[in-house]
Amino acid sequence: MSIEALARDNVRKLVPYLSARRLGGNGDVWLNANEYPTAVEFQLTAQTLNRYPECQPQQVIERYARYAGLTPDNVLVSRGADEGIELLIRAFCEPGQDAIMYCPPTYGMYSVSAETFGVECRVVPTLADWQLDIPAMAAQLDGVKVVYICSPNNPTGQLINPQDLRDLLELTRGKTLVVADEAYIEFCPQGTLTTWLSTYPHLVILRTLSKAFALAGLRCGFTLANPEVISLLLKVIAPYPLSTPVADIAAQALSEQGIAAMRQRVAEMTDNRQGLIEALQQTPCIEQVFASDTNYVLVKVTHASDVFKSLWDQGIILRDQSKQPSLQGCLRISIGTRTECQRLVAALQQQPGPQPTEKQ
Ligand code: PMP
Repeated sequence: MSIEALARDNVRKLVPYLSARRLGGNGDVWLNANEYPTAVEFQLTAQTLNRYPECQPQQVIERYARYAGLTPDNVLVSRGADEGIELLIRAFCEPGQDAIMYCPPTYGMYSVSAETFGVECRVVPTLADWQLDIPAMAAQLDGVKVVYICSPNNPTGQLINPQDLRDLLELTRGKTLVVADEAYIEFCPQGTLTTWLSTYPHLVILRTLSKAFALAGLRCGFTLANPEVISLLLKVIAPYPLSTPVADIAAQALSEQGIAAMRQRVAEMTDNRQGLIEALQQTPCIEQVFASDTNYVLVKVTHASDVFKSLWDQGIILRDQSKQPSLQGCLRISIGTRTECQRLVAALQQQPGPQPTEKQ
């Protein structure tokens, strides 16, 4: 028997998530993973690497709770928000029986995690403006244990309407968890649902240090929820999900000084985003620039795959979103440094715009 045949059926069929890093490329302008463009320096202070780390490092939990305006029993820390996505499926979904729901175009890991565990994906596309189709969701909630809503949404860039989220939370009360993935919320902090946790026992919020905190390489994320949910997740989490150096640096990033530095980075990125959007609007091959509450912008491009390839060959690496439903011809651009944005715009200016015959 071949090794391949030994694998679980759903794993054999699985198309793995193609992360920006796995896609490769020989770039020097990396605008494809929504990272912060420059490195923030940290020194390790904990030297006790002979010992196992705490499962849930107390200082990290306390500091995140304070930062989020919650209490420590509302907080779980994990190896990135990606691990939080998976823990929810492991704790709440019976393989072959329960389902998750998500609304494309959106982040790719919800389906990959569900498929890995043999959990059905109920897929309800968003409306034309990328907001939730609540009636369609309501019609398909049977057997759904977890709904993932990315807000602000990756890759489209906008917050989900709060009234739709309220309607969804009412529809799902007592039956289904609603998970708001707030990976990019620091770029639009007014949109957070943390204050709703006291009203909705089935609301869960995902956060990360990978974006505004500039620590994608650290692999540290948070799940915020009511204590009952957190306790269940703690049953299925690995005994030592975070290494000692990760907890050390995460605690520093969440100090008052660390949070102030994060807010400054957000202001700087928001500034760069505005400059980039204005420049893109003057660029012939860019048909549309979509509004963004995040550290990336989605654009509709004439001859998108040619443009993507040409920039790739010049070392400017973007993320092609053309394969996602309703995103034909769309590329996602992470906000880089000023210089990187200028290089990108200069390269895009060289690309042909639509021919007169192609214009509608
Ligand atoms: N959710 C969304 C919407 C994301 O874009 C990402 C990062 N690509 C994640 C979750 C995962 O973040 P982390 O790096 O914390 O695993």
